[in-house]
Amino acid sequence: VIDALLDDLRHWLRIPSISTNGGDQPALRAAAEWAAQRVTEAGGTCELQEGDGPPLVVGELRAAREHAPTVLIYGHYDVQDPEPLALWTTPPFEPAVRDGRLYARGSSDDKGNFLPLLHVACARHRAGTLPVHVRVLLEGEEETGSSRVNEWVLADERGADCALLFDSWMQNERTPAIDLATRGMVAADLVVRAAPSDMHSGLYGGAALNAVHALHRALSAVLPGPDGRLPEPLRAGIAEPSPEELASWESLPPGEEALAEVGGRPADATAAAEFWLRTTAVSSLDVNAISAGAPRTIVPALASAHVSVRVAPGQSAVAIRDALEGLLRDALPAGAELDFKADCAEPSLFEAGLPAVKAAQRALERACGVPPALVRSGGTLPILAAFAERGIPAILSGFGLPDDAIHAPDESFRLESLELGLRAAEALYEEMATLR
Ligand SMILES: [Zn+2]
Repeated sequence: VIDALLDDLRHWLRIPSISTNGGDQPALRAAAEWAAQRVTEAGGTCELQEGDGPPLVVGELRAAREHAPTVLIYGHYDVQDPEPLALWTTPPFEPAVRDGRLYARGSSDDKGNFLPLLHVACARHRAGTLPVHVRVLLEGEEETGSSRVNEWVLADERGADCALLFDSWMQNERTPAIDLATRGMVAADLVVRAAPSDMHSGLYGGAALNAVHALHRALSAVLPGPDGRLPEPLRAGIAEPSPEELASWESLPPGEEALAEVGGRPADATAAAEFWLRTTAVSSLDVNAISAGAPRTIVPALASAHVSVRVAPGQSAVAIRDALEGLLRDALPAGAELDFKADCAEPSLFEAGLPAVKAAQRALERACGVPPALVRSGGTLPILAAFAERGIPAILSGFGLPDDAIHAPDESFRLESLELGLRAAEALYEEMATLR
């Protein structure tokens, strides 16, 4: 089976379906058509749904029995621009196997990670033994951050008994993982104005309001304290991790190690010990950029900053946006004006006790011989928030590893990860059949 999968994957990887830096529209379409054809050739139905940008692939493979549960499988067929090409050992769209790894752009993110789910569903459908109805959902703009697929999930009234996403990481080379939660995001642009134009500090310094100082005061009101905790209004609603999750975190590498790997220094005395809590389960705020003034004797009139908050599972991104704006405005000195604009993405959280999560735990343990770690992702994945809003338990897993070098030259995927993906897909469909 692995040979057939590998053969299929090579075909898909040869299509240079780049979506970033302008993208390759004909290749994106070809990659979508390739996936749709897999479904129809296996006897299922599939269509390309058009809109702005690359099409959504929406297909259906029906189970052998009518009253089986419906499992939605999600993946993305677009890839990152492979530049700089000179750094690739073999060309990015000519898949090559070396030392147990398949090298190509998209081999891990996400064609190689996702394809086992589709491959097994097609094979079982052909054999007449598919234990669940499988709804296929693939998008071609994941790497560019579009929201069209989320709108599709929110609008699809049929719903599903669960969603399976292979677009994530293993805990380590042997241990699979299930991401039970993702953080949301508030990304804010701030502009503080203190005067119509810059002034000479020899004439007005000491009396005129300085925009940099005003911005500094406003930011001081939202930064974490010496204990690393954000102000209370930015912590409202945080959902504490369950005892089951905390126990699973014991097997994670120590925070000191995780920081040291990239040369990072702990933000405060308890930051390293609380690494996993801080980066996945509570809100955090980073000032990403500041620009203002000039190295001359001026009293600057304008100062701007880009600030982002990772919103914790349980919190509302919209509420956190309002709290952030309120704290900033309250701290601003009289006379300063603040222009505040922010984009929001909601967090997601699926309880460890959900029947679909239990079924996924059993399946991944069967497939890998080790129970999966229950972790949270500190990043933002809006489609999970859409599944959560629709009441569809989503299982975010996958067989990527840090060595895969996604988004970088020489991206690769272990052949062993492909095999684990195959076994996991088989076991997941079988275990999910017990949901109904
Ligand atoms: Zn990616």
